[in-house]
Amino acid sequence: MIEIRDVNKWFGPFHALKNCSTQVEKGEVVVVCGPSGSGKSTLIKTVNALEPIQQGEIVVDGHSVHGGKTHLPRLRSRIGMVFQNFELFPHLSITSNLAIAQVKVLGREPDEARERGLRLLERVGLLAHKDKFPGQLSGGQQQRVAIARALSMDPIAMLFDEPTSALDPEMINEVLDVMVELALEGMTMMVVTHEMGFAKKVADRVIFMDAGEIVEDAKKDEFFGNPRSERAQAFLSKIL
Ligand code: ADP
Ligand code: MG
Repeated sequence: MIEIRDVNKWFGPFHALKNCSTQVEKGEVVVVCGPSGSGKSTLIKTVNALEPIQQGEIVVDGHSVHGGKTHLPRLRSRIGMVFQNFELFPHLSITSNLAIAQVKVLGREPDEARERGLRLLERVGLLAHKDKFPGQLSGGQQQRVAIARALSMDPIAMLFDEPTSALDPEMINEVLDVMVELALEGMTMMVVTHEMGFAKKVADRVIFMDAGEIVEDAKKDEFFGNPRSERAQAFLSKIL
C-alpha cells in the first residue's frame, strides 16, 4: 500500500532523511518511534507529499507520490492524516467539520455527507456533541473528531503524527482506544507515537528512527524482545 524507496530529503544543507526505505502492506499497522528530531514527522509527511523529497520514490496504492503525474489533492484525500494538534476548523460545528471535505473534495451531497459524519461521530462516541464547536470539546474529544473526519473521506490508509502527545494523560486512552479499534478492523496505519502500549497491542512492525535514518524496522516481537541496535535499546530503556 505504501512503499518508501531510498528516500533522501534535505532542509537546505540539513540532511533530514537518509536513505529511508520501508513498506506498509495493506492492513498493516506500523509504529514509528525514535527521539525528538529524528525525522519521524518528516518521513510521514513525505508519504502524502506534504513535504517534498529530493531523492528516492514513494508509491502509494500504485501511484508515485512525488513523480509529478499523480493528482495530489485526490491522493491526499484518500490518505487520512491526524496531527498532534487536531486542526479542526474552529468556526464550524462538529457536524460541519465532518461534512465539509466530503462535500468540497469528494463532491458528496450535503445530506449524505452529514449522515456519514453522524455515523462516524457515533462510532467515536461523540454523537451527543454534534452541534458543539471544537473549542467546547476536550482535547481527547477533539482528537476523536479529527479521526472521524479523516475517516469520512474513506481513506485507504491513515497516518498519525503523535496523536496523543498534546493530550492530558487521562484523555490519552480514549483516543488510543479508537485507534486500536481501527487497527483491529484492518485499517492500514502508519503511526508516529511513543505509546509503546499501543505498539505492543496492535503494531505489526516497529520502525525506529535516529538522526534521519531508519535504524530498525522489525516485527513487533523482535523489536521489543531483542532490539538489534544500541540506539534502539537505549531509547527503549528510557521510555519503557
Ligand atoms: P521528529 O518528528 O522525529 O521529532 P522532524 O521530522 O520534525 O523530527 O524533524 C527532523 C529534523 O528536521 C529536525 O532536526 C528538525 O529540526 C528538522 N526540520 C523539520 N522541519 C524543518 C523545516 N521545515 N525546516 C528546517 N528543518 C526542519
Ligand atoms: Mg514529530
